[in-house]
Amino acid sequence: MRMKDMRVHVVGAGIAGLAAATALARRGATVTVSEQANALEAVGAGIQISPNGAAVLAALGLESQAARLGNRLGAVEMRDGPSGRPVLRLDLDAAGYDHPYRAFHRADLVGMLAEAATGAGAQIRLGHTIGPESPIPDDCDVTIGADGIRSALRARMFPQGTAGADEPAFTGNVAWRATVPLESYPAPMFDGAADHARLFMGPGRHLVCYPLRARGLLNIVAVEERRAWQAEGWMYPDAPENLRRAFVGMGAEVRALLDPVEIVHAWGLFRHPVPDIWHRGTCVLIGDAVHPTLPFMAQGGNLALEDAWVLSETLAKAPDVETAWRHFTAQRLARVRRAVAAAGRNARIYHLSPAPLRRALHAAMGLAGRIAPQAPLRRFDWLYREDVTGGKG
Ligand SMILES: Cc1cc2nc3c(=O)[nH]c(=O)nc-3n(C[C@H](O)[C@H](O)[C@H](O)COP(=O)(O)OP(=O)(O)OC[C@H]3O[C@@H](n4cnc5c(N)ncnc54)[C@H](O)[C@@H]3O)c2cc1C
Repeated sequence: MRMKDMRVHVVGAGIAGLAAATALARRGATVTVSEQANALEAVGAGIQISPNGAAVLAALGLESQAARLGNRLGAVEMRDGPSGRPVLRLDLDAAGYDHPYRAFHRADLVGMLAEAATGAGAQIRLGHTIGPESPIPDDCDVTIGADGIRSALRARMFPQGTAGADEPAFTGNVAWRATVPLESYPAPMFDGAADHARLFMGPGRHLVCYPLRARGLLNIVAVEERRAWQAEGWMYPDAPENLRRAFVGMGAEVRALLDPVEIVHAWGLFRHPVPDIWHRGTCVLIGDAVHPTLPFMAQGGNLALEDAWVLSETLAKAPDVETAWRHFTAQRLARVRRAVAAAGRNARIYHLSPAPLRRALHAAMGLAGRIAPQAPLRRFDWLYREDVTGGKG
């Protein structure tokens, strides 16, 4: 289709919406983004962008900004939480990916994408909520629902009783997120040349931390299994004591990591099944709006970036909108479902209980890593080595 004549309405200025707006505006489309928030300020926390997501940032021309704002992660160190014993080291540097594995402050990533979108000519309308009943503007040819897991567009596209209408359900996991100035820790946390992420696995819980902003901040994500989510909304500011109490059974290192936490938010982790069909009429869904995932592969944002690129390409190449949507979903569905399933498996591996089972699993993982150090990462080549842009970055 001729992108120059196309008017695109994007609902949601998150990672998916802003990346799609940039990609489409760069191809010549007239793009308007409606965002419910009055300002683009993501709640302070980190986000890992793996090589598959980095490939999209590079293809959008954002490699130098990403290199400046992101912290390159050279490895992931997996440890047993209660004892602190090392289990496995995933050497990201040695894997030789075409694009780097980085950690960003979410606000920096969203800010970078917003600047790219407006720089490409997209208009971002803040304080614009598209409700389930609001009319879709008739001055646009296509509407892209990038409005996250609580998508209003999804609700209007798939009314109750139709495939795709499942309500998000609580996954039995609560995540606390906090950022702590690294200077709050008495001993240096990262003294080598390369930064790394640390993952502590314990019964029914795990904790991940990594540095952000040129080692100025430590990002902490701590997850605990729970039967139910009692809070009214999806997220609330919590008392740091509740977080520390939940991880009291972990070793000294985890407790030391949590000691200086002063501000923390708790999030219920929700999901709904990935539907077979992501579009209806001139509307299509991308990112968390259609395929929310547990964050245990750190892929939700990466998949959102991939969606944005593939969508812009299929729209540009297909003869009509309906064909574009079908090609888009055909290219994305199996990959997205595989990533979502892999995150679910990680939940079981990270949280394994009781102790003898956990020790046996960790021993097997450690042995596998010693025999063939790159093998555990190679199992994820299908994920990290995929470049949906075909090497445009
Ligand atoms: C604890 C945790 C850790 C995570 N870590 C990682 C990680 O390391 N790496 C990774 O890739 N992913 C990670 N994720 C997942 C990632 O955050 C999400 O997958 C990603 O933010 C999805 O982007 P999105 O643009 O689809 O949706 P969102 O980020 O939810 O953006 C949706 C936007 O739409 C707006 N909006 C919503 N409704 C409306 C409406 N009706 N009208 C107008 N605007 C609306 C919202 O305000 C928002 O700006 C993590 C998630 C969690 C919970």
